[in-house]
Amino acid sequence: MGATQAVLMILGDRANLLIVRESFRGTRRYQEFKARLGMSDAVLASRLRDLVEMGVFRTVQYSQRPPRSEYRLTECGADFWPVAVGIWMWERCWGHRAYRLPTMTHLACGQQTAATFGCGGCATTTVTSRGIEVDVAEAADYVAQVPSRRYRRASWRSAESIDLYSEIDPLLGDRWTVATVAAAMIGVDRFADLQRALDISPPLLSKRLVELVNRGVLDKVIVVDGGHHHRYRMRPKGLDLMPIMVANQAWTNRWFPRDGGPLVKIIHSGCRHELVPAWFCAECGKELGRSTMSFDFPTPALSSRAGSGSHSA
Ligand SMILES: [Zn+2]
Ligand SMILES: [Zn+2]
Repeated sequence: MGATQAVLMILGDRANLLIVRESFRGTRRYQEFKARLGMSDAVLASRLRDLVEMGVFRTVQYSQRPPRSEYRLTECGADFWPVAVGIWMWERCWGHRAYRLPTMTHLACGQQTAATFGCGGCATTTVTSRGIEVDVAEAADYVAQVPSRRYRRASWRSAESIDLYSEIDPLLGDRWTVATVAAAMIGVDRFADLQRALDISPPLLSKRLVELVNRGVLDKVIVVDGGHHHRYRMRPKGLDLMPIMVANQAWTNRWFPRDGGPLVKIIHSGCRHELVPAWFCAECGKELGRSTMSFDFPTPALSSRAGSGSHSA
């Protein structure tokens, strides 16, 4: 699988995003995915097959008669954790309050903590979207190369517990929306430029932009410079998606490297080198690693009502 395919396989597809997030909660079995996510067999089976083919999951047989396999994250799948941390942090800040988020413990210092996004190259513990630079032409090129559609839009009647994700998944579960956010984030802010960069039909772009404005991700502002022009500006809620996008990009580069190197380079203004995306412990300031942190999930209160039983994660 090529880098341009891989970059929007999980972010960019709501079903895949939910499945991978669910697996980070410890879910492994088909029936558990099904019960917790409420997907149809057609959607769930095809996505799991693709994620295995992509190398995110491997199947491990757990029963011989009848033969049954479970889906375990591979090294590549588990390495998606920095993106998961980004989503978790975003939800802490912007998500619904109707449910309890998992807590994170930094095992090295023993404290319950939050994460700050920074540059592992120079050990700067906080890097915001103002602290990074990308070559806009290069990045717009990259966005344009992202295949617009891999899946037919899948819909299903969600399990009740899917509300867990309802704030972030409209933003990250659709390829066009992710691409639009990415373009706006690098400063492509006019309708015509966005349309050209994304190679998207004007009605489709309008629809996505309206949605992003309604969700408080973008602001539509009028700039007077010889005429009246609308510009789309990122609001804080949108800017806070940056670590997720950058971590996803880095993950893609690690596992699906492209001949000739990554298409888009993200420079950390602070050290003038390529940004090495990293998460740091908000309590002790040390860099977090997959094995030095743990998420503790609250008991899923909704699943009992949905009748899906109490499989422990
Ligand atoms: Zn740096
Ligand atoms: Zn710590």
